[in-house]
Amino acid sequence: MTDTEDHRRLIVAGTGIAGLTAAIYAARSNNDPLVLEGDEPGGQLTLTSEVENYPGFPEGISGPDLINEMKAQAEQFGSDLKHGVVESVDDSERPFRVELTNGDVYTCDAFIAASGASARTLGIPGEDDLMGYGVSTCATCDGAFFRGEDMLVVGGGDAAMEEAHFLTKFANKVYIAHRREEFRAEDYWIDKVQKKVESGEIEIMRNTEVLEMHGSPEEGVDHVTLARNESGHPSEKLDDDETEVSDFDVGAVFIAIGHTPNTDYLEDTGVELDETGYIQTQGGKGGNQTATDVSGLFGAGDVVDYHYQQAVTAAGMGCKAAIDADDYLEDLPENEETEAAAEAADD
Ligand code: NAP
Repeated sequence: MTDTEDHRRLIVAGTGIAGLTAAIYAARSNNDPLVLEGDEPGGQLTLTSEVENYPGFPEGISGPDLINEMKAQAEQFGSDLKHGVVESVDDSERPFRVELTNGDVYTCDAFIAASGASARTLGIPGEDDLMGYGVSTCATCDGAFFRGEDMLVVGGGDAAMEEAHFLTKFANKVYIAHRREEFRAEDYWIDKVQKKVESGEIEIMRNTEVLEMHGSPEEGVDHVTLARNESGHPSEKLDDDETEVSDFDVGAVFIAIGHTPNTDYLEDTGVELDETGYIQTQGGKGGNQTATDVSGLFGAGDVVDYHYQQAVTAAGMGCKAAIDADDYLEDLPENEETEAAAEAADD
């Protein structure tokens, strides 16, 4: 038996930039959104110390401050913000049936998935304790705090290359540890990094993995334990004589091994997800760009976008999703009937 069963015109899952922007627009369109705040309230931006590229803030604004202002703005127009993690959405019936992990159940006419993506971590000893104290999943957010230090970037994709390149602005030297010989990153980024290797600002450690991080919240990262094996994936070959294990001094570690979109709750719906779980939306130039394959269900922000991943692009998509949802809600037969009845009463 459920604790609550409550009907809403629109539910927005997520209180990152995309979800809150959708909430502001939806509330102003009288769609009375219920906005569900999950386990990472405020989303990726709350991991950001200073946001200097969000238009309108020439002095910069802290990520948490920007989120709090947006929350206040969403609530001011009537959004109902509640804590809740979506367990499942049943799209086999209308209204949608939305079940939360705490057992609460809501029904709704339209649903905006803006539940973001979470940075992947390595799951090694020391990582959790030092996260935020020298270990970070966002170079753009935290790089400047470690000015003058040797910095280690983990990963071999575009994000790792971009972060390593960016960190050369602050670091004494940037090291990249990648678990195999070949990079996944595109040539564009490999070439840019290679130039920094030639100038001595970056050093690449191939076939290398981090086994453990050492330090303390008070003092930050002191060193890491690395494993290296010429045939790659050394952490899987620790008993191999060819695997070398050594300590390596660094002042900060940036983990750039990808993000996982928070879309598990959509797996049993008709929403098309790509092989890594990102929502496929209609896109294009006209209206309904945020529509998914399920009518009435829209996607915005990092659940859709693995490319731009910026606060301002997430805000833009949140706005589009609220407008698309409003168009959908206005066209629902029961709403047309209600509006026709209201107009008839006015005449
Ligand atoms: P990604 O392309 O999935 O690359 C992740 C990297 O991390 C891979 O090199 C992978 O190694 C490594 N990795 C994964 N798990 C690991 C583990 N447990 N231990 C050690 N290494 C691990 O992710 P991404 O770089 O975040 O990029 C995601 C998407 O965003 C891509 O489509 C990318 O093109 C795009 N992106 C674009 C730009 C840009 O163009 N400006 C910037 C950033 C991201 P393996 O290679 O061995 O699998």
